[in-house]
Amino acid sequence: MTAARALDSVFSTVLRRNPGESEFHQAVKEVLDSLELVLTKHPEYTEAGVVERICEPERQIIFRVPWVDDHGHVQLNRGFRVQYSSVLGPYKGGLRFHPSVRLDTIKFLGFEQIFKNALTGLPIGGGKGGSDFDPKGKSDAEVMRFCQSFMTELRMHIGAETDVPAGDIGVGGREIGYLFGQYKRLTNRYESGVLTGKAPAWGGSLARTEATGYGAVIFAQRMLQTIAESFDGKRVVVSGSGNVALYAIEKVRDLGGLVVAASDSGGYVYDPDGIDFALLRQIKEVERARISEYAARRGGRSEFRATGQVWDVAREPGGIAVALPCATQNELTDVDAATLVAGGVRAVAEGANMPCTPGAVRLFQEAGVLFAPGKAANAGGVATSALEMQQNASRDTWTFDHTANRLEDIMIHVHDACRRTAEEYGAPGNYVLGANIAGFTRVADAMLALGVI
Ligand code: NDP
Repeated sequence: MTAARALDSVFSTVLRRNPGESEFHQAVKEVLDSLELVLTKHPEYTEAGVVERICEPERQIIFRVPWVDDHGHVQLNRGFRVQYSSVLGPYKGGLRFHPSVRLDTIKFLGFEQIFKNALTGLPIGGGKGGSDFDPKGKSDAEVMRFCQSFMTELRMHIGAETDVPAGDIGVGGREIGYLFGQYKRLTNRYESGVLTGKAPAWGGSLARTEATGYGAVIFAQRMLQTIAESFDGKRVVVSGSGNVALYAIEKVRDLGGLVVAASDSGGYVYDPDGIDFALLRQIKEVERARISEYAARRGGRSEFRATGQVWDVAREPGGIAVALPCATQNELTDVDAATLVAGGVRAVAEGANMPCTPGAVRLFQEAGVLFAPGKAANAGGVATSALEMQQNASRDTWTFDHTANRLEDIMIHVHDACRRTAEEYGAPGNYVLGANIAGFTRVADAMLALGVI
């Protein structure tokens, strides 16, 4: 069977086994589309059924999460943990709490996570989890009761050597604290390495909070260097204003760039004088308020826009040189990509997972825009989680600078691996192909070595 036919056959099986899961299908298709040359060169992968096995999670857990709200009413949510691949290390990947979460969402994220984690070069497998619980508008006590109920079930499936969850959308330091507290209580073990994203005061790593955003910007900077450019003086648009977006904004500022827009699910702010990172962080991370507050407090030329897309700022005078989508999946469409290309965009790095639709990616690539897929550009978060696990295992704490320097080295390693692999497979500058092949081959070789399991 030719490689192309083998891949078609695997994709048909994925469609048949996972009906209606469009985001998962999209993530699988993007990877399979990169693998024809690899399978042609390595028929042993097809003979061992590697691609078909990689598309099927090792384990999928769905559970009931009952909890009591502040009015004494019983509420019910659904919890998920998809343990995708453990050939390189314990399952590793975040938990997402958002009302849109379905099994489909968690499977697409878990699938991406396998290759992302492999790209870091660190010993971590791939997994993902979450719930359709919405922390927005809930009191701290409600969030705590939800997290305790969620962990009461999840703890049966995780452990420092088994599966190590972390944060994602809707899960930050507060939620990780409540989850860890309940795990500790149920197991009577201070097993620091069971969760990452902990506060540095009780087992967390310095620089973990900043890692995903910083890492995405370091990746983008390295891409810009390949065309002898830098962030210095460039106008940048970032979507979102959560964990990833905030620290991407800070890092761009530190590298001399000007972030002129950021967003949340209620709209976006345009600030031609550059987003004030400290103010935005205060509003979104500390006060958990809406981004509309930003323009109200910042004043000057900043404005809040409740309609349109954050990408529309590419139409403003001066255009946009770099775009960093850092909110959620499929948030940047082919229409938005066309707006950005017309506005002069030179580089796009995905801080979020799969934020650009396949049509948008195609358009960027055809226009010669440097494009970094999330599984490479946002790998700094999970890589620093793995550094947190190292510190927990050795009962050590590293300085901020030590951890941040290691993050930088890892991001450069990921960038260079993608670039080198793309060249080796005859597609120079194609980071999508490079990331998919480099991540896949590391996992595939381990699967061959470990036998049919
Ligand atoms: P947060 O919850 O901290 O922030 C998410 C941001 O995106 C918020 O500003 C939120 O707006 C916005 N957003 C979420 N959903 C939507 C939506 N449907 N429409 C419009 N805006 C939306 O999450 P993170 O910053 O942690 O995660 C952002 C992305 O980065 C996700 O794709 C995640 O998977 C990915 N990622 C995160 C990592 C991490 O370390 N945290 C690691 C690697 C990837 P609002 O405030 O209105 O909800």
